Amino acid sequence: MILHLNLNTASDVVMEMASFYEAVALKDENNIILVTSSDVKNVNEKHKKLIKEVFVFDSDIQLASRKYRKNTWQVKIGNKTIGGNTNNTAVIIGPCSIESEKQIEKTSVLLKKHNLTMLRAGCFKPRTSPYNFQGMGIEGLKILAKMREKYGFSIFSEVRDASHIDDVIEYADVIQIGAKSMYDHGILRKCGKSKKPILLKRGFGTTLQEFVQASEFILSGGNSNVILCERGIRTFETKTRFTLDLCGVAYLKESINLPIVLDPSHAMGYSYGVPNLARACMAMGVDGLLIEVHPNPAEARSDASQQLNNEEFSALFETLKPIAKAVNRNII
Ligand code: PEP
Ligand code: MN
Repeated sequence: MILHLNLNTASDVVMEMASFYEAVALKDENNIILVTSSDVKNVNEKHKKLIKEVFVFDSDIQLASRKYRKNTWQVKIGNKTIGGNTNNTAVIIGPCSIESEKQIEKTSVLLKKHNLTMLRAGCFKPRTSPYNFQGMGIEGLKILAKMREKYGFSIFSEVRDASHIDDVIEYADVIQIGAKSMYDHGILRKCGKSKKPILLKRGFGTTLQEFVQASEFILSGGNSNVILCERGIRTFETKTRFTLDLCGVAYLKESINLPIVLDPSHAMGYSYGVPNLARACMAMGVDGLLIEVHPNPAEARSDASQQLNNEEFSALFETLKPIAKAVNRNII
């Protein structure tokens, strides 16, 4: 249950109510907001005159529900916006990992060529083996910040665990929480305290309910700049790396008030399939696409098999334009 109270409600009253309902308290520009477990369905008689509005839910998807807030949250990334009443679809590209300044400069030139402004690259990589490249760490973040200075890009970079989260929050414009980290409550809670946009990826064994509930940790911490990212789930299929859950995306669009980005690269795992999948994603009318692009994929130090080279991306990008137009989206 969500309760709205007047902003000028005395803090001891708010604290008494939060304790009575075991609620999380936060506020927006118009209300003090108390969020209880969805098991709570009724307001106590003694609080009725203090409450402006009550919203009752059948699950703990509450702040993220369109039953609470019909319109999609607007999220500002640099001087661009997604969600809200924009029909913008952000095309976010870059290598899996930043490997050198020379490499990221080549990707930056590619973004510039297509008038794109959102550069992604991981610095702290959550690898499945401890013996593989783990990322450039803080050095990588500094080079990405240099690209922001030079080209005016917004930088997306992921946080692997809570130990370096302050560095990622400091250097990146959008904090990516990866599929393997999305249950890390240290990360989720810290992101809730930041005002920066958070790109929350769905874990590959995560139900839609669990995925959206993870976003509720960030939202209830007071950060409404949350973007959901579907990047493929694990099914019985082994011919592709994961299975992109477009049915799940249809559910999220219908029921959830957060912008949605689709990542066909990690879902497919093989570059040959990425262009077709990216076009299908654009046709879904979502708020963004995240596509891994590397100047020389064969030499990439992570996710080599799924990254497009610059020419492949440029060819794909041209074909995305008419699809965007057909579904009334503006590529940004
Ligand atoms: C990535 O974006 O490079 C990445 C590691 O993604 P995921 O967390 O979806 O596996
Ligand atoms: Mn990757």
